[in-house]
Amino acid sequence: MNIVLLGYPGSGKGTQAKMLSDKFSLFHVSTGDIFREAIASKSALGLEAAGYISAGKLVPDKLVLEVIKARLSTETRGVLFDGFPRTVEQARALDEYFTSGGRRIDAVIFLDVDEGSVVSRLSARRTCKECQKIYNLLTSPPAKEGICDACGGVLLLRADDSPAVIKNRIAVYKAQTEPLVAYYKAAGNFHPIMGGEAPDKVASDITAVLETRTR
Ligand code: AMP
Repeated sequence: MNIVLLGYPGSGKGTQAKMLSDKFSLFHVSTGDIFREAIASKSALGLEAAGYISAGKLVPDKLVLEVIKARLSTETRGVLFDGFPRTVEQARALDEYFTSGGRRIDAVIFLDVDEGSVVSRLSARRTCKECQKIYNLLTSPPAKEGICDACGGVLLLRADDSPAVIKNRIAVYKAQTEPLVAYYKAAGNFHPIMGGEAPDKVASDITAVLETRTR
């Protein structure tokens, strides 16, 4: 089973991806996490991607596709894509790559959240520096302020979750990623989910869709 999670920045893709990849034993591919790790380790990829990310722009398709192909080349499990594809060109390249390997995207889960709540969710988001667990200070705060419940790591506000960058990321989403809704609707594997509900409810709604797809 290969799944794409689609939606605004802050729509809950990362939170859902972690829950679903555990539940369905899928290989979780978050291009955002890959770039952040590359930036932290100051690799060539990180140096190239950093400027785009801090400005809230998309990393160029060519670079993203190289990263994806390298990640998938040795993986045999089903894949859960989180934050990829983000452009129609990336979606076409993924289709070609999968088709040539006799695979397909089984379901595209669209986390439907309105723009206003995305801004407040991103501003309240904190991520564990160590294990990347995601918190929301308003709806799912850690037990101890600033500290990850799961591993004791320090919780950080992502640099690109600042108000000015959030504005750019939303504009970029509308211009470059939203066309994927029409792209995948036409492909017939598109499943909208109410993303504004509590994370456990969203996860069970997604699970219901995936279970009918695999039956
Ligand atoms: P995310 O953690 O998914 O919100 O991604 C953080 C940032 O990484 C985005 O704002 C982009 O700058 C970059 N990024 C992540 N995934 C992609 C992608 N598929 N295509 C282009 N840029 C990406």
